[in-house]
Amino acid sequence: MNAAPKPAASPHVMNTYGRLPIAMSHGRGCRLWDTNGKEYLDALGGIAVNTLGHAHPKLVPALQDQVAKLIHSSNYYHVPDQEKLAQLLVERSGLTNVFFCSTGLEANEAALKLARKYGHDKGIERPEIVVYDKAFHGRSIATLSATGNPKVQAGFGPLVDGFIRVPLNDIDSLKKATAGNPNIVAVFFETIQGEGGVNPMRAQYLKDVRALCDANDWLLMIDEVQCGMGRTGKWFAHQWAGIVPDVMPLAKGLGSGVPIGAVVAGPKAANIFQPGNHGTTFGGNPLAMRAGVETIRIMEEEGLLENAARVGEHLRTVLEKDLIGRAGVKEIRGQGLMIGIELTKPCGVLTQRAADAGLLLSVTADSVIRMVPPLIMTTAEADEVAAILLPLIHAFLAE
Ligand SMILES: *Cc1c(COP(=O)(O)O)cnc(C)c1O
Repeated sequence: MNAAPKPAASPHVMNTYGRLPIAMSHGRGCRLWDTNGKEYLDALGGIAVNTLGHAHPKLVPALQDQVAKLIHSSNYYHVPDQEKLAQLLVERSGLTNVFFCSTGLEANEAALKLARKYGHDKGIERPEIVVYDKAFHGRSIATLSATGNPKVQAGFGPLVDGFIRVPLNDIDSLKKATAGNPNIVAVFFETIQGEGGVNPMRAQYLKDVRALCDANDWLLMIDEVQCGMGRTGKWFAHQWAGIVPDVMPLAKGLGSGVPIGAVVAGPKAANIFQPGNHGTTFGGNPLAMRAGVETIRIMEEEGLLENAARVGEHLRTVLEKDLIGRAGVKEIRGQGLMIGIELTKPCGVLTQRAADAGLLLSVTADSVIRMVPPLIMTTAEADEVAAILLPLIHAFLAE
């Protein structure tokens, strides 16, 4: 069907990903072109990373300017844009202090260290952290131990201990699992699970957990690596429930594609780390900080939170109109531009079929079609996504 050459599996790069036989060449807005010149509509956004799409006309010159001035200097010295970006994050989250790193797992690793030291500072020798079924927190030994997916953990034991696992949205289970345990220091979850299949925590549950954490002096730690940075229509997804966490790891969308991570902390956790407790070579470097500052500035200039809410709602409505009640479609979940369509059978083949049809998306948790496009997506582009995707789903379900 396609005579163009496909990139072969590499003899030298480790075989860690089940990649599609496509290599991207360049992008513009919500469009990408591969090395054969084929065009794609991007509903994946580099897995919730490309907040501003590709080659954004305001971001490109800012990053070019920064690269020509200074990419990296090291945390031996002050980095003025760290203070600037920290202030932007603090103002938008209601928290107080930020530690910068380079990836999501690193932000979560810092959160786990904060929680353990929070315990040790209170005299708790063996601190325990509550985590969730189907959670995804990263691929380091500690974060894969916190992750609730046996496939991520298989082959890497012994796992890090000190985790207690509970189901989502069940306050009684949480209370039962922690009752009378003096070693609990924190509760840790994603507001909307990403890799686990786009599973939202309910607003009432978030409020109940906040109250339980307050009553017991535990840290409430919310992994907003995927669902945060405006994707749901608020800066952070937990803000829909009107709560404020104590610790919030961020990454993915924060730098519009430049690697960056951050852990944002409120008063209970802001002063736990002292000089020598934690650090990283790349974290907070001038290029990443400039990307973060410019991303937030451009998002506000262009009203991208409102856009994410509006276009997400539109896309979801179009999908629901067609799919709800259809045999083979279990549920449509998510908020804003984070949408999951759960089918009743594994549908991994749809990533390749969608790409063949010119649409980029992913399938997670085996049977959930996930879309996390750039927040600049227009209503017309959302209609185009639906126009490509719906016939593919119908054909797949008819097989
Ligand atoms: C992607 C993701 C991570 C891991 O981020 P990396 O940058 O890949 O280390 C952690 N938590 C959540 C919720 C994620 O979606």
